[in-house]
Amino acid sequence: MKRFSKKILEKARRVKFLLLDVDGVMTDGTIYLDADGRETKAFNIYDGSGIHLVRKAGVQVGIITGRQSVIVDYRAKELGITEVHQKILDKVKVYDEILRTYGLEDSEMAYVGDDIIDLPILKRVGLSVAVPNAHPEVRAQVDWVTQKAGGCGAIREVTDLLSAVRKPQQPSSKPQRALR
Ligand SMILES: [Mg+2]
Repeated sequence: MKRFSKKILEKARRVKFLLLDVDGVMTDGTIYLDADGRETKAFNIYDGSGIHLVRKAGVQVGIITGRQSVIVDYRAKELGITEVHQKILDKVKVYDEILRTYGLEDSEMAYVGDDIIDLPILKRVGLSVAVPNAHPEVRAQVDWVTQKAGGCGAIREVTDLLSAVRKPQQPSSKPQRALR
């Protein structure tokens, strides 16, 4: 695992719910429209398996997006994500509903976003994450900016971190020093 600051690791350890934006985060932000106005998006396979793994590790995953697309419903179903909130302009309202439903606190939430609309949630959550393709104002205000871009494995970076910190023992290549 990449080296993270103590602060990020501590924040990550508390996370019980990972909330994701879609466009620009789970995708590269591109929306393909065909001649009939039908929309297509591309998702990353490694993000998908990361979501499966982090859910297995005990972290819940949810989606919140300002747009509406059946593709998102389909992808969420594929990934076993049941908290899917689309066409949401007031994202904080839904965020608060999720906190109430699951009995969680801000510090137990992580959010990955890329645009100004995501800032109100990013300012609340325990672990705020942006993708490198995010708006500069967003990148400047989060705990961590992933190395990989949205739609290109950014989510996998986050799920790898959250899965790793939840393991009871970190595998170490260094020999353990005996306790005295
Ligand atoms: Mg977005």
